Amino acid sequence: MQEYFKINQMAEGIYQIYEPGGVGSSLIVGKRQAMLIDTGYGFADISKAVRTVTDLPLRVVNTHGHTDHAGGNRYFNKVWMNPADKATYKEYQNHQKPLVAARFESVRKAAGKGPIWPEDFDRLAWYAAGTKEFCWLINGQTFDLDAPEERCNQTFDFDEASEENHLIEAIFIPGHTVGSVMFFDWKNHILFPGDDLDYSLWMHFKTSAPLYTYQKRLQQLEQYRIEAILPSHRKQLLSPWIIKRMPEAIEHLSVEKSRRFFHPRTGEPGYLYKEILNGESPDGLDMIYITYQINNM
Ligand SMILES: [Zn+2]
Repeated sequence: MQEYFKINQMAEGIYQIYEPGGVGSSLIVGKRQAMLIDTGYGFADISKAVRTVTDLPLRVVNTHGHTDHAGGNRYFNKVWMNPADKATYKEYQNHQKPLVAARFESVRKAAGKGPIWPEDFDRLAWYAAGTKEFCWLINGQTFDLDAPEERCNQTFDFDEASEENHLIEAIFIPGHTVGSVMFFDWKNHILFPGDDLDYSLWMHFKTSAPLYTYQKRLQQLEQYRIEAILPSHRKQLLSPWIIKRMPEAIEHLSVEKSRRFFHPRTGEPGYLYKEILNGESPDGLDMIYITYQINNM
């Protein structure tokens, strides 16, 4: 199991559980509760990887409904998600899983490598397995990881928060998908944006939000003291610099400066805009990529 998942400590009490499909789930350990942000593809039992780090009561949340973030929900009794991502989750659960598996097989075969999943992986069971129970998040909802376990439908009164609490806030920013949620750790000042913010931003999906809605909503992050961000497909913490720079890139974007783009798995067409960064990124990255649809700007 430990060979399949690579567990890296990113900060005090913050771990990333990275899997061979190229996605990381984040684990935040508080004094009395822990939170798992996303569950990976679900090719292997991520709950066992979590238990090698902590045995505290676990709160499981999804940043959005894509299979590489919610595929491992089957290993948990309850998972929290934004109800606005139900349609995305259903589409991936019912139609995209075979495409995901086929894509991994063909890419690995072409590279002369074996399958991406462990030997005991049961593909049909994976297709069939869903989420046992969803709890629906509300925007601004917070969880206190230093408090005792609460019931599913209870929320923390944010006005009563103090330095004593280890609060994680759910921030709804429709973008990559309409129900995308970022999680902000008020104690460690780290933002977990899922796929909703990175140097490469995929916004061409049927269930993506309009580009300019996303650009506006991103501005609400300015009120938070964010010191680092950990996107799902990165193995290291990034500077918060991209929070301010991404809306500028969207401002510069135009159809003339873009080229046609086809999703590697579904063939779904869209447009791809690239912005060269000329050494300005503190993360040492040289390009911002944005995929989008011209009828959803
Ligand atoms: Zn995604």
